[in-house]
Amino acid sequence: MRKKIVAGNWKMNGSRYDAHVLLESIKQGAGTLSGVEIIIFPSFVYLQQCEETLADSLISWGGQNLYLGRAGAFTGEISGAMLVDYGCQYVLIGHSERRHLFYEDVNLLAAKYKAAQYVGLQPVLCVGETIEEREAGKTESIIQQQLASVVEAASIDAFRQAVIAYEPVWAIGTGLTATPDQAQEIHAFIRQVLAAYHPGIAQSVRILYGGSVKPDNAKSLFAMPDIDGGLVGGASLDAKAFLAICQAAMYT
Ligand code: PEP
Repeated sequence: MRKKIVAGNWKMNGSRYDAHVLLESIKQGAGTLSGVEIIIFPSFVYLQQCEETLADSLISWGGQNLYLGRAGAFTGEISGAMLVDYGCQYVLIGHSERRHLFYEDVNLLAAKYKAAQYVGLQPVLCVGETIEEREAGKTESIIQQQLASVVEAASIDAFRQAVIAYEPVWAIGTGLTATPDQAQEIHAFIRQVLAAYHPGIAQSVRILYGGSVKPDNAKSLFAMPDIDGGLVGGASLDAKAFLAICQAAMYT
């Protein structure tokens, strides 16, 4: 049985005050939600607030990105070791905004994945196709390539302690959501790709769906057999909506 995860990706949003209010509200509301794992991905500058507010809770937190190596002359970057220093257990790797706006390619992302694991962080590897790729019938080949580049660089063993997020690019921040059947089809495909390397790992890895998850669609998505929770952007900035999504994950 795979425990469901609901993760909030705050992206480049919020203020110190907003972070305080949001973290306190989520912590208070999550008190009774022990059946679901909750992770917060704030902007780097609010990680210390996560540590201070959430240390005595069951909620985890992580970075939205990292750079390679422990330290060095990489102006503007944050290393995995620094994330660990702030109590992070997770890090997002390959969010579509990193792939498309910041041109992070499969080789860099595979290296980042390895760098995360090297310092004991659990990567949440984001994969997904653009609308043009979907319409051209390339969804499966794109996802296969996004997964294979990491498996080949880091080995399938590296997926024992990992999480994957399927996020169709056309559904992120657009209000468009993959239907539960569309999402399930790709989640099953992801498991099938991993099973070719290691059937046991393919069964145990948790695969989240991301793309306009909201309180009113979460339950039907999370009820699908290969969907193990959600990576939530916009709705994670509203404590009530985010907690309703966590609640949906508890009962599916
Ligand atoms: C995301 O940022 O990963 C995401 C899925 O965003 P949204 O929920 O706003 O579509």
